[in-house]
Amino acid sequence: MNRKCGKCGSSDLQQIEAISNQITQTVDAKSVGVQAFGGQIGASGSKTTATITPLLAKQIKRYVPSKSSLFAFIFYIFIVLFFIAFCISIGVPGSIPEENVNAAMFGYGGLIIFIYLLYKSFQSRRSYEERLKKYKNTWYCWSCGSFRIFK
Ligand SMILES: [Zn+2]
Repeated sequence: MNRKCGKCGSSDLQQIEAISNQITQTVDAKSVGVQAFGGQIGASGSKTTATITPLLAKQIKRYVPSKSSLFAFIFYIFIVLFFIAFCISIGVPGSIPEENVNAAMFGYGGLIIFIYLLYKSFQSRRSYEERLKKYKNTWYCWSCGSFRIFK
């Protein structure tokens, strides 16, 4: 399949995953992190003698999908369970004793925060495959610098 850029018509496209791998390899090889991004990284696989600029490296990094770890997911479950137990011991809203109000604010506040984090972690894990697929289908046009998703 001959992919063409929808914006400029150029066929000088490259999968961003390949570009991302090149950035990672180059940085690993230099093993100086910041220094590597300071210079220009040559891109092979491109027809033109293009260079991966720090700006492009930054743009591509934003496309790389991340996945919440299983450890984080399980950790949040335990914290939520802890806060549920804590809240039950303090009392349900409406019948919280005066002296427990601060503890209840801590307990219910923590419960809300960690339910949110658990939900985000769950969402991240559930949508990861889809985001990875989209990432693998995203190509960069070396001619005009636009990103395009191919099905
Ligand atoms: Zn283009």
